[in-house]
Amino acid sequence: MGQIVQIFDTTLRDGEQSPGCSMNREEKMRMAQQLERLRVDVIEAGFPIASDGDFEGVQAIARTVRGCAVAGLARAVRADIDRAWQALRDAERPRIHTFIATSDIHMTHKLHKSRAQVLADAVDAVRYARSLCPDVEFSCEDASRSDIDFLCEIVEAAIAAGATVINLPDTVGYALPAEYGEMFASIRKRVTNVGAAVLSAHCHNDLGLAVANSIAAIEAGARQVECTVNGIGERAGNAALEEIVMAIATRTERLHVATGVHTEEIYRASKLLSTLTGMLVQRNKAIVGANAFAHEAGIHQDGVLKSAITYEIMTPQSVGIRHSTLVLGKHSGRHALKARFAELGYDLTQDELERSYRAFCALADQKKEVYDEELIAILDDQDAPASEVYHLEGFHVSTGTSLRPTATVELRQGDQRFIDSATGDGPVDAAYRAIERITGTMGKLTEYSLKSVSLGHDTVGEAFIRVEIDGVLYNGRAASTDIVTGSVVAYLGALNRALASHQSRLRRRQPVTEEV
Ligand SMILES: [Zn+2]
Repeated sequence: MGQIVQIFDTTLRDGEQSPGCSMNREEKMRMAQQLERLRVDVIEAGFPIASDGDFEGVQAIARTVRGCAVAGLARAVRADIDRAWQALRDAERPRIHTFIATSDIHMTHKLHKSRAQVLADAVDAVRYARSLCPDVEFSCEDASRSDIDFLCEIVEAAIAAGATVINLPDTVGYALPAEYGEMFASIRKRVTNVGAAVLSAHCHNDLGLAVANSIAAIEAGARQVECTVNGIGERAGNAALEEIVMAIATRTERLHVATGVHTEEIYRASKLLSTLTGMLVQRNKAIVGANAFAHEAGIHQDGVLKSAITYEIMTPQSVGIRHSTLVLGKHSGRHALKARFAELGYDLTQDELERSYRAFCALADQKKEVYDEELIAILDDQDAPASEVYHLEGFHVSTGTSLRPTATVELRQGDQRFIDSATGDGPVDAAYRAIERITGTMGKLTEYSLKSVSLGHDTVGEAFIRVEIDGVLYNGRAASTDIVTGSVVAYLGALNRALASHQSRLRRRQPVTEEV
């Protein structure tokens, strides 16, 4: 099996900071708990100095997660490092991740610093971070476009100052696999103290090469890779965790390395992230796309039926995809529901079971058979009630070809009830306008999608919406057999988030232009 490649997951930092992927504290915590089940080696939980929200998210994860190291990002300045350490200090295994740009392009145009100044800043940052925390990662931002002589010099100095991990990112997604591998080979050959640190790859996918580059780095000696679930991240995203992990698992005999990831949790992690962010994966996405294991072309199907290994290089079960079987109906009890969830890999608390059971009964009243995907949708639908400012009491719509669509909506806030009506272009639009009249909050719908969760005309539909309020994007999601209900609940969810985060919005992120 050979050596272990550590999986450094940055879904909650590099992924989360990209447009449309923001998560609130509860959502980040849910994702972190899934990453813990996935057994990644390191969770990069955020960039603590960027905002109070980021700080609190990192701190909450640091205090909760066990088994994985928890990292926080900091520029190579003491204020950033202090803030990161405050957020991380309660972690079982804290790691400060500090960085500075090392390419001439970045040093000249962004930092306005000479090589000597950058080197001095890096050494000071690493030494200071190391005085606080035993595990310090140092990243050379834009390493793949840095001068190799300077890169060797700064890496050697950072290791001498105490860095335990050296990360060499392809920040702009420019490198080709052979070239990126050569950079690692040069560092290993030329940096005399390189054995004292773990080398790490961090690749962006601008040319679609992030995973290929990461594998090239591993072949050249990198023993940590940075990646995100579903490959989310800036621009075209980061290297996808599931692709790297399964490439290593499937081709371990050729790569001579392994990871400690519990691959059967991959699919669940992918689904959870999609649910939390509304960022869906394309059907033909490797490993986690809906078609990834669908051998439907006649000749392939014939082969797979005769023997799976003819076309199947890995099994869907190995990444946690289970065959959909219709198992439950309206007469199924709590016990059956709990058992089915357990088979699907979900260990429910009593409280979760109660809420799921109520949602299940409501669903089973509407349709005869409830599929596994729908059970998971029910579970994912249980948003943290803490963020609920307005509760939907009920609504009524009238629509048709010859009348103006009208909606009447009743909302409750604490003990107060509000009711209002509006007309619109369609029943969903009318209901949204009625909600806006009650809440006084105007949102601009920037994305709206409906997707069926399973098969059949009575399937559960999942509504995803993204609303812009005061320049900030909020996601809403709901699952229902009725598309108008789903759309209304999703919209109200997004508005509730906007209202709940109003306070933290007043303390908005300071502009952080750096990107590792
Ligand atoms: Zn990055």
